[in-house]
Amino acid sequence: MRILYKLIPMNASSAKYGPCEICGKPTSDVYHLSVSYQMSDHTAHHKNIFGCRECLEARVSRAKKESEAQRGSEIGEGAAS
Ligand SMILES: [Zn+2]
Repeated sequence: MRILYKLIPMNASSAKYGPCEICGKPTSDVYHLSVSYQMSDHTAHHKNIFGCRECLEARVSRAKKESEAQRGSEIGEGAAS
């Protein structure tokens, strides 16, 4: 599975899009994080998160670290595919 992240500025504040979905605080600059899960059978699943840039960037870097750790353990276990 491949995961693609796209961070898109909405050019609007929480007055329009509501508070950050991660920290729950209002922000003057709402960003849209588009997460796209590309499955091995060529289907894709999407997840959308709206929030402040800091929270979304932190979410992406944590997710990337987790997926690297996961891949590492798969190799370690010698998973058959
Ligand atoms: Zn936030």
